[in-house]
Amino acid sequence: MTNRSILSLLLLLFSSAGFAQQTRKTVYVIADGIPADVIERLDLPNIKKIRSEGSYTRMHVGGDVAAYNQTPTISAVGYNSLLTGTWVNKHNVPDNDIKAPNYNYQNVFRLLKAQYPAKKTAIFSSWEDNRTKLLGYHLPEAGNLDVDYFFDGYELDTVKFKHDPARNFMHLIDEKVIQEASATIKQHGPDLSWVYLEYTDDMGHMHGDSPEFYASVKMLDAQLGKLYEAIAYRKAHFKEEWLLVVTTDHGRDEKTGSGHGGQSPRQRNTWMLSNYRPLNAYAARYQPAIVDIMPTITRFMNINVPQNVKREIDGTALIGKVSVAEPAAIYVQGNVDITWKAVDPAGTVKVWLATTNAFKDGKPDTYKLMAEVPVTDQHAFISVKDQPSKFYKVVLEAPNNTVNRWILLEDKK
Ligand SMILES: [Zn+2]
Repeated sequence: MTNRSILSLLLLLFSSAGFAQQTRKTVYVIADGIPADVIERLDLPNIKKIRSEGSYTRMHVGGDVAAYNQTPTISAVGYNSLLTGTWVNKHNVPDNDIKAPNYNYQNVFRLLKAQYPAKKTAIFSSWEDNRTKLLGYHLPEAGNLDVDYFFDGYELDTVKFKHDPARNFMHLIDEKVIQEASATIKQHGPDLSWVYLEYTDDMGHMHGDSPEFYASVKMLDAQLGKLYEAIAYRKAHFKEEWLLVVTTDHGRDEKTGSGHGGQSPRQRNTWMLSNYRPLNAYAARYQPAIVDIMPTITRFMNINVPQNVKREIDGTALIGKVSVAEPAAIYVQGNVDITWKAVDPAGTVKVWLATTNAFKDGKPDTYKLMAEVPVTDQHAFISVKDQPSKFYKVVLEAPNNTVNRWILLEDKK
């Protein structure tokens, strides 16, 4: 036998023995309105199991308090931050009316389909708006996105799910959502799925921190158990690697637990549970945000995010290598003072600057390369005297990730 034929035989053996790359699939769950302290202190066996096999981190929503990207801690606002990896100043969904989402900030479903048209997507949700308005299903302005499997709109079916004052119908809807999600995942294994569960938020609004609210979180735990079982089934029977992400869209107020929408710590504090381990150094050292989930999914799914989209994403991947985090930029007398934290010290940071925001209208911005400095410098001080403007977009492009900040200058008083 020649060396070459031995090599071919070995390659054949390796691939048939299952060493070939497994197909990667993602399912993420939004369980509505559960503060971090609640998910941490209740006895939740399925969440405990997933956590012991994967990872758990606290997270936040709401953007940065009192900054240009401060974001209401409201449901649809949070879902769209997860979907697009951006805060409300970009995605333009400030409340649950979802009147004018800015689809120029592309969601993760659209990015997946653009690169891999044959891959299958799915949504399981009580709330039909999640598909029709946030994903922008079949809307030309949202890229005519198709969704391969969808089970939603149950809140509109008042015959099957008769609306009772205690809102038990919403629990029954969540059960239906989980049943359809588990069955579809087992049978078809969609590449990217979004599961949305609402009952916990209903109980929070009605009863605040209460036995009723905590009971609803235990029901959620049982539902996650069913979903986790469906994923285990796929992993046992197919050559697939699955990423499960479970998170919430906002916390609840400190005083009673019935409200949300504001910027108090308990309304901003959320969490993320995943079957993936370990999360990266960025996740370990800093408090992740809901906008980090989208770049985490694109990285796991090997989606090449176009450069113009990448420059707008406000989140940072929670898996794999990350170069820079925590960017900040302020204007100082004709200069821009930029800082960041070096997460991985290798390489350089390219500092890009734009004075326009044409991206929001679907047009390209013109970026100028202002500096290139070692990642480990963690700062750059750049003259912008020849680019006077009330608005600057600063983009830091490093070997493993890209981050951005805006500077908005007030008129002199
Ligand atoms: Zn909510």
